[in-house]
Amino acid sequence: MSEPIHRLHTLPELFFSEETDRPFVFCNDCRQPLAACEEGHLIQKVISKGETIMELALCIACHDKLQQSYSQESRERIWNFYLDHGDIGGRLRKFQSIPAASPEPWTNHCLTCSSTRSTQDEYVIAGQVLDGLLVYGETPMMVCGSCMEKITDMLSEETRDSYDKWMERVVPSAPETIDDKPRRRVFL
Ligand SMILES: [Zn+2]
Ligand SMILES: [Zn+2]
Repeated sequence: MSEPIHRLHTLPELFFSEETDRPFVFCNDCRQPLAACEEGHLIQKVISKGETIMELALCIACHDKLQQSYSQESRERIWNFYLDHGDIGGRLRKFQSIPAASPEPWTNHCLTCSSTRSTQDEYVIAGQVLDGLLVYGETPMMVCGSCMEKITDMLSEETRDSYDKWMERVVPSAPETIDDKPRRRVFL
C-alpha cells in the first residue's frame, strides 16, 4: 500500500474567520452549513498590509460551479499558470516529511514565484478543509499579489466580469476597498 498523499490536521487559526475568530460555518455561496458538505470546503483570504481585506468559505460544489462559469480558455490559462509555475508535486514531496502541525512551511513562499510572504504587501492564502481539519496536499498555499495579478491579466473580460458579479453576490458586505484600488480577484 502506498503512503497517503494528503494528511489532515487541526485547523490552524490562520484559516479561521477573522470576523468571528472561529472556523467558518456556512458556505458563502449556497449558504449551506459547511459541516453538511461531504467533500469539504475551501477557504480563501486576501491579506493586505497585515489585514484581512477579503475572506470566504466555499463548498467544493460551489467552487466547481464558479470555475465552470469561466470560459474554457480562461480555465485552461489559470490551470496552466499553476502547473507551469507551481511545483505542486515537488512541494508535496518536500513537505511530506515535515509534521503537518503547522501551515507555515506551506504558506511562507508564493506557490508560483517562491517570493517570501513577509516581503509581500499583499497575498492570498488558501486552504482545503475536510471534516473540520486542514488538508495538507495541494493546499495550504500562498500566492502573492503580483502572481494573482498576472493570472487575472491573462483572463478574458467575460471571465473577469462573471467573477466580479459572483463576488458581489457572495461577499456583499466585504469592504469595497481599503485603499483606492478595486476589489481583489482570486482565481484558484
Ligand atoms: Zn456552497
Ligand atoms: Zn508570486
